[in-house]
Amino acid sequence: MRFLASDQLEGRGTGARGYDVAAQYVASQLESIGIAPAGGAGTYFQPVPLRRLEIVPERSSLVVLSAQGTVKKLVRGVEYVTLGDATRVAVDVEAELVSVGFGITAPESGHDDYAGIDVQGKIVVQFFGAPKKFSNAVRAYYADPATKMRNAVAHGAVGMIWVFPPEVAKEMPWDLCVGLANAPGYRWLDASGTPHDGFPELKTIAFVNRSGAEMLYAGAPQTLIDAVDAADADHHSSHALATKARVHTETKHTAIASLNVVGVLQGSDASLRTEHVVYSAHLDHLGIGEPVDGDAIYNGAVDNASGVAAMLAIAKAYASLPVTPRRSILFVAPTAEEAGMLGSDYFARFPTVPRASIVADVNIDGAPGLLYPVADVVPLGAEHSTLGAVAANAASDLGLAVSPDPMPEQSSFARSDNYSFVKAGIPSVCVIEGLKTRKPGLDPAAVMRAWQMSKYHSPKDDMSQPLDFESAATTTKLNFLIGYAVAQAAMRPSWITGDFFAQRFASR
Ligand SMILES: [Zn+2]
Repeated sequence: MRFLASDQLEGRGTGARGYDVAAQYVASQLESIGIAPAGGAGTYFQPVPLRRLEIVPERSSLVVLSAQGTVKKLVRGVEYVTLGDATRVAVDVEAELVSVGFGITAPESGHDDYAGIDVQGKIVVQFFGAPKKFSNAVRAYYADPATKMRNAVAHGAVGMIWVFPPEVAKEMPWDLCVGLANAPGYRWLDASGTPHDGFPELKTIAFVNRSGAEMLYAGAPQTLIDAVDAADADHHSSHALATKARVHTETKHTAIASLNVVGVLQGSDASLRTEHVVYSAHLDHLGIGEPVDGDAIYNGAVDNASGVAAMLAIAKAYASLPVTPRRSILFVAPTAEEAGMLGSDYFARFPTVPRASIVADVNIDGAPGLLYPVADVVPLGAEHSTLGAVAANAASDLGLAVSPDPMPEQSSFARSDNYSFVKAGIPSVCVIEGLKTRKPGLDPAAVMRAWQMSKYHSPKDDMSQPLDFESAATTTKLNFLIGYAVAQAAMRPSWITGDFFAQRFASR
């Protein structure tokens, strides 16, 4: 963890030298432990072809045209930001605007923001998130930007503008949003060089803040706040706006190849060894970026040097067993997680072993328990499959309680590499720490909140912060035991019958 998080690795940015050094390091570690190469061509590496998108801010613009013919040019970074275009280096669009609530069509929940509204050839303006009535799993799926973009395209929209409802804006400061939009975006490319989830039909994807949004809603039948309130209260509130937008976007495209690192420990059972239990822990972080207090290296110590280190410790434990487990164990360190779980998505679609042979994914994103002595864990996503019982048994063996997700509204389950496996129909779990502690007088919720506000995705997530390695060792044992139980069981894990994700993805 200390090496991966060191300044020498420069934050392991996707496509950067520090990441490539980290990939070589993990491969060397796997080799020294006795884990065989499984990336392809006899190596530990699966190259992931990527396109990097960098917006050219000085040559991009967003103009709002009112019904009275007035023209208002919004100030980039202050009132709006646009994202880079995945398929074009320059693109223009001018279209009418339609407010479409959350932009969600969820027939099984009886919710359709597009009902009775025509967005053909128009730009949809929509709120970040999902209605409160949705269960956690349903929310995770429908709040996913890719799901929303697919839905907008299916309805014929030609652009998308995101608005943050006040509640979301509290958690998602505008500066953070601007930083995200200005950072390079990435897409993986298929064999024909086409970006996956490129959505060429959408000729602009933009964010506006409150004042930008109020300009879009000028003269509309509902004010911005009325529209947000209606969407929150789950009243159908979609309506045409009185304004149009004209957007020009220029994007620099760069082709890069980044490496997933993959190793395998052969199983011992003559028939079950053809099946694989996957451990995944993303190796990338945010690289070098905006300096904070004079430090521009985003070391990503907890996120996710710790997860990779935990996975290597688990690999070492497996390799030291007198008899290897019955099923084979695959260790995967994906690239480009921070860029949208791209390395894992690529791996789950083009795995280096037959996809049907992958029985489960145990993902580690931040070795749980590093911030305080944990007394409970949250096995994110385990409730969708028989992995729930596996995780509960393993936790009880270690004296750890199992708790439900304390922040379901953040859809954490859909925000790490385990979700790439779920989308490929593979039962997955990602254990995070719960909010109980063995240390009297400590408030874990306050510790966690302070960490998220001051260290998460900041250069301050480095090795100088206080870290509880004993606590993280316990959760690493837990992740070992979960994978071990799956590798030994006669039956592979299965989805819970009727589960939302099972219905959507299990047949893939
Ligand atoms: Zn992470």
